[in-house]
Amino acid sequence: MEYMPIFLDLRNRDTLVVGGGDVAERKVGLLLDAGARVHVVSPDLCDGLRRLFDEARITWREGSFEPADIDRKVLVIAATDDRHVNAAVSNTANSRGIPVNVVDDPELCSFITPSLIDRSPVQIAVSTGGSSPVLARMLRSRLETMIPSAYGRLGSLLDEYRERAKQTFATIDERRHFWEQVLAGPIVEMILAGQDERARQHLEQAFQDAEQGKAGEQTGEVYLVGAGPGDPDLLTFRALRLMQQADVVVHDRLVSKPVLDMCRRDAERIYVGKERANHALPQEGINELLVRLAKEGKRVCRLKGGDPFIFGRGGEEIETLLQEDIPFQVVPAVTAAAGAASYSGIPLTHRDYSQAVVFATGHLKDGSMNLNWHSLAQPNQTIVFYMGLQGLSIICKELIAHGMPTSMPIALVQKATTPEQKVVTGTLEDMPKKIQRADIKPPTLIIVGEVVKLHEKLNWFTSDSEA
Ligand code: SAH
Repeated sequence: MEYMPIFLDLRNRDTLVVGGGDVAERKVGLLLDAGARVHVVSPDLCDGLRRLFDEARITWREGSFEPADIDRKVLVIAATDDRHVNAAVSNTANSRGIPVNVVDDPELCSFITPSLIDRSPVQIAVSTGGSSPVLARMLRSRLETMIPSAYGRLGSLLDEYRERAKQTFATIDERRHFWEQVLAGPIVEMILAGQDERARQHLEQAFQDAEQGKAGEQTGEVYLVGAGPGDPDLLTFRALRLMQQADVVVHDRLVSKPVLDMCRRDAERIYVGKERANHALPQEGINELLVRLAKEGKRVCRLKGGDPFIFGRGGEEIETLLQEDIPFQVVPAVTAAAGAASYSGIPLTHRDYSQAVVFATGHLKDGSMNLNWHSLAQPNQTIVFYMGLQGLSIICKELIAHGMPTSMPIALVQKATTPEQKVVTGTLEDMPKKIQRADIKPPTLIIVGEVVKLHEKLNWFTSDSEA
């Protein structure tokens, strides 16, 4: 380890910045954020520093660096473009044992500043030991995307209860154990989902249970998570996080294998099927299963293809959870229509061709489809049929019968966003015949409307596309 990382408390301590340019300004900003008193010495100031000086947020001695500038300072930063000056600052500070940083010159530094992810009070510092600030920044931006900004609020909430924990638990071990249990429970997710008040109540309850010597009941919860259309890159950050912390994953056929592979490795997996007409587990069974698992104290990730609230029966599943008073949250996702549209170059709306888009179900019930064909067969709109492959000829026939031109373009998009994506385009008239030849498998989405014409021009995702 070349450097030892520490976090300095600079609140109301005097610090010195030598230099008045943009680089100095950035360092001044950092020191001010940390609550330090900042003194700048420089022959002149850039606009930003001048403003800070005018607002009396920093002091400024106009002139060149002198050793006396370091008197009574606890930290020094040199940010001039003159190496001699920087070296003089470094030498003086070092001879007095005061930590000094010279921007971009590790040799002259007794400390270096890390790249920072600030979720105050949570802070994550990244350093490459000065060897590559760019690499450090790159790592930082990766971490930024992984660490939700709400961690700051979580930190503040926990901070409020620190004293209480000290009073409630006599030993450090007891305290640690308590916090470990709290943080392993649903409180983190509550904060991340913006349910701060619920999180607070939960924490209150945990304290009350502990104070009364109760172990505290383990409550499970359910995450109803949209897994998107197939490409795992289309998962949301939240979906991924919940998939990786669930104890049990309940999934159906639409969830692609690459997506499923991203769930926590040791999570139990339960397949609840849902092949057309061959339901591995009827919906009521799924609802009951979710309730039972949550009541066992498990964190259950109910993973659904596409978006849970678009032909996903997500509404029914959470209704049961509500009745049973089980905490849950719903995570939206890219629905098949959006995925198929983007990955086949068929915009669902277009200024010239389509001013509205309708999502409809083409699911057959007793061999027929009960839809408002009149409203579907309107011009200037796009219709997306989910679950329509079996009923394709009925769809084409009914749309024509209700006034759509026989030449209206139609596209089938098989396994959209996956390597097996296949697009077949045609017209309402010829499509039913065409698919007898094309080997199309579910899940397939049907898009009807003038916008389908754009496929040829806008297609960018190479697949087995067929005109
Ligand atoms: N909740 C899902 C839809 C479930 S209904 C969503 O928002 O996407 C199931 C239907 O969705 C399938 O019959 C098919 O029409 C469509 N579908 C789901 N994933 C698909 C995919 N990758 N490619 C094409 N269609 C898909």
